[in-house]
Amino acid sequence: MRCTKALIFKENLKHNILAVKKLLKPDTKICCAVKADGYGCGAVLAARTAQECGADYLAVATADEAAELRKNGITAHILLLSLCTKQEFPKLIENNVTPLIFDSEMIQAYNEACAQKKTMEKQPVFLAIDTGMGRIGCLPDEAAAVAQEISGCSNIALSGVITHFAVADSITKENRLYTEEQFSRFMKAVHSIEAVGINPGIRTCANSAAAVSLPQMQLDMVRPGIVIYGYYPDAVTEKYLAENGINLSLKPVMQLETEVAAIRRFTPGRSVSYGRTWTSSTETDVAVLPIGYADGLLRRNSPGLLVTINGRPYPVIGRICMDQCMVDIGLNNPDVKRWDKAIIFGSKESGAVMDASDIAEMTGTISYEIMTAVSKRVPRIIQ
Ligand SMILES: *Cc1c(COP(=O)(O)O)cnc(C)c1O
Repeated sequence: MRCTKALIFKENLKHNILAVKKLLKPDTKICCAVKADGYGCGAVLAARTAQECGADYLAVATADEAAELRKNGITAHILLLSLCTKQEFPKLIENNVTPLIFDSEMIQAYNEACAQKKTMEKQPVFLAIDTGMGRIGCLPDEAAAVAQEISGCSNIALSGVITHFAVADSITKENRLYTEEQFSRFMKAVHSIEAVGINPGIRTCANSAAAVSLPQMQLDMVRPGIVIYGYYPDAVTEKYLAENGINLSLKPVMQLETEVAAIRRFTPGRSVSYGRTWTSSTETDVAVLPIGYADGLLRRNSPGLLVTINGRPYPVIGRICMDQCMVDIGLNNPDVKRWDKAIIFGSKESGAVMDASDIAEMTGTISYEIMTAVSKRVPRIIQ
């Protein structure tokens, strides 16, 4: 097997889910987001682990993602968070997936598709309400009418209402106020549904950031994603939570690693990689690593990325190539040998110098993108 691989620590996944669960009110359900192949960590593993930890729901983005879970024996409820297309309806129905809907056209089309299913039971749907994310959902003041339309359908039934926060991972005063505002619009919409005599079912608004930092917004179900994979949602850090009396210690689930494929002696004045952005100023040794941007090591991570070899950090130099990158290990370094393990990112507890959030910060993105960038070519090895 190729030495470039992503180790997936199942125990850490479990630890994180249980740690989040501990912050929930006893009757709040948990819906673990396992979309995008479990944020790159493996959807089936994430789903199984979530089920073992008592998750009521799992969340995916596509019908194919849901089908993969069902094929692997996952029995929990599955919520499809993105808008599905008509072409996906049969697969949804066949796999017992709950879609989000919010407009007449979709309600009628899905209701019709559900008529094909030879069962007396109505197919569950969640009503999406756009309280300020600006992505999908009806407006809050349309919610009651849409809920009425759903309850008038013969093959579908309202089993929940959902909204999504735009800035719950930010702790600026302005953004905290925006999240509060979204929450109150959501509650108002929920009450308007109740006012026309309809049970809204499961009320859910909280992503990771809100679930762990704004307990009053947990409602009937929270939908954590990033925290179960071991990363804090942007500004909602361990420190911020602790300052607010909330203890949450997460463990990164993925470790991306490779090996030193070769060590090459460089005399002064020789350049490395495309664009010749790095030139040796002294005599030094350069390690070649068989990992590149096609593996998910973003090209913009260099310069800046520090790779861990035997517990010490070494800088990636020059441009990251499609399948390889180079690291300056210094002249005659006794600590680095050919075929030694090189960790790109992982848990600091287990010796990695950088975790995914460090790399994200360095390159102006979020840990989500660093993890989901790890490509299909990289085998996931469950530990
Ligand atoms: C992805 C997603 C989540 C999970 O978000 P995290 O920030 O990873 O916790 C929750 N709800 C919806 C609608 C999503 O799309």
